[in-house]
Amino acid sequence: MPRTLRLVLGDQLSDNLSALRDLAPGDRVLMVEVMAEATYVRHHKQKLVLVFAAMRRFADRLSERGVDVRYVRLDDPDNTQDIPGEVLRALENGGLDRIVATQPGEHRLTRAFESLVLQAPVPLEVRPDDRFICPRPVFEAWARDRRELRMEFFYRDMRRRTGLLMDGDKPVGGRWNYDAENRKRLPRTVRPPDRLRIAPGPVVQDVIRLVEARFSDHFGDTAMFGWATSHAEAQSLLAHFIADILPDFGDWQDSMKGGEPFLWHARISAALNIGLLDPLDICRRAEAEYRAGRAPLNAVEGFVRQILGWREFVRGVYDLKGEDYVRSNALEADRTLPGAFWSGDTEMACVRDVVGVTQRHAYAHHIQRLMVTGNLALLLGVHPDEINAWYMMAYIDAFEWVEAPNTHGMAIYADGGIVGSKPYAASGAYINRMSDYCAGCVYDVARKRGEGACPFNVLYWDFLIRNQRRLEGNPRMALPYRAVAAMAADHDSIRAEGEALRMRLGAAPRT
Ligand code: FAD
Ligand code: SF4
Repeated sequence: MPRTLRLVLGDQLSDNLSALRDLAPGDRVLMVEVMAEATYVRHHKQKLVLVFAAMRRFADRLSERGVDVRYVRLDDPDNTQDIPGEVLRALENGGLDRIVATQPGEHRLTRAFESLVLQAPVPLEVRPDDRFICPRPVFEAWARDRRELRMEFFYRDMRRRTGLLMDGDKPVGGRWNYDAENRKRLPRTVRPPDRLRIAPGPVVQDVIRLVEARFSDHFGDTAMFGWATSHAEAQSLLAHFIADILPDFGDWQDSMKGGEPFLWHARISAALNIGLLDPLDICRRAEAEYRAGRAPLNAVEGFVRQILGWREFVRGVYDLKGEDYVRSNALEADRTLPGAFWSGDTEMACVRDVVGVTQRHAYAHHIQRLMVTGNLALLLGVHPDEINAWYMMAYIDAFEWVEAPNTHGMAIYADGGIVGSKPYAASGAYINRMSDYCAGCVYDVARKRGEGACPFNVLYWDFLIRNQRRLEGNPRMALPYRAVAAMAADHDSIRAEGEALRMRLGAAPRT
């Protein structure tokens, strides 16, 4: 009877993983903790804790079911510290006739698999990762012959394909999108809900000690670790969200509040990205709340769109565009990333808060990532390599297939408009409208220029003028460029003030 070595990666912790589907007696499952994966960027310490602890718990779960698991710990003295090396070591004693794996999410690991094929003494079968709602060939067929890839049209097709939030062939409620109702500023009197925190159990505590000892120079703190590291914990986070939080998800989806990173967001991206939750199941459960009258349509549609629309769309774009995608630099951004992204040491209250919660929780919600740190990097002209590396490092849910289209495409427009139809550039007025940050800031958001003015203001106009040649032909930028034209006499002085500010904030030309 042929025996198979089944490789399970750290973000493939799903019972229904394609590599495990036909698991037979005599097969061996291989899971490895390796330095190559832990250090290709200096991941937030909580992300290392999440992945190692969840891997250990998944391996225990398989072993309890009688599966033969070879689990290689980071501190195993014979560990070769990379995935191909550990697969070859697992094959050393013979007796295994083939390797079965699931397609990795990141191009980097696809290359590692290619090198493994050349070295391994037995064949490697790589199966599709079918834990997404949209299979790769379906996305490719959708994208083929389209001049532009727009998430909204993809999302509508996915609604039709899955039947989610549909009445026959029509969207429930008569509209596809309730975004316009989901942009409310949070009133002072509305208090964000208390959130479930998963207390670290013995496995997590062990891994926290390991990470503190071996990765003390990585970004972030472990003290507040409260993420799900098992299927059961992920289900309880999800159940808490669906029952208590989802009904208000829509209203305050875009708002920000100092010291309150989670607001009404689901906090499930980490569990979802490592395979502890299933995206279609989440969407169906949210839909059931609407159908049962327990959650309004704007909340449920807004939430489903994030998963069925955005998450599936960015994965499709990442796969379709290949490795060159993250090398694009459409705005020729050439500046260094300011030190404040690491330290949070800045007088800009919004940036200080977002970097602070990122250090403490390895989390910031979408609008904080997009309109505070992302917007600042865009306006400063930070080089894509530097800001991509920061987002990969900073967040609990960061895996390149989802991080890169969001950062590279959406936040800094380095892909020239593949993910977003225009740059998400904004002045301080946007941040002021959607948050309470500005009231506690040394800068004056109402002041456009000069000493004490909100840095986002002059940087916004400087960005538009600096990139005029590249952006003014975009119909969605017509309005701001009309304003730019009206201030022609000030262009030189805005550029000079913007440049001085860029240097002062630490966005210097890269050498
Ligand atoms: P909620 O706001 O409650 O949304 C529910 C779920 O929808 C999320 O868990 C997530 O799975 C999905 N989702 C929402 N928005 C997106 C999106 N734009 N792309 C893909 N999925 C989405 N998400 C990651 O999972 N990993 C990343 O590395 C990542 N990097 C980002 C970088 C930037 C610059 C930006 C602007 C966004 C990034 N996002 C990333 C998307 C989004 O910010 C996070 O998915 C979300 O904040 C996770 O928190 P939540 O679970 O509370 O999400
Ligand atoms: Fe941020 Fe400007 Fe508001 Fe300060 S004034 S919190 S820098 S937007």
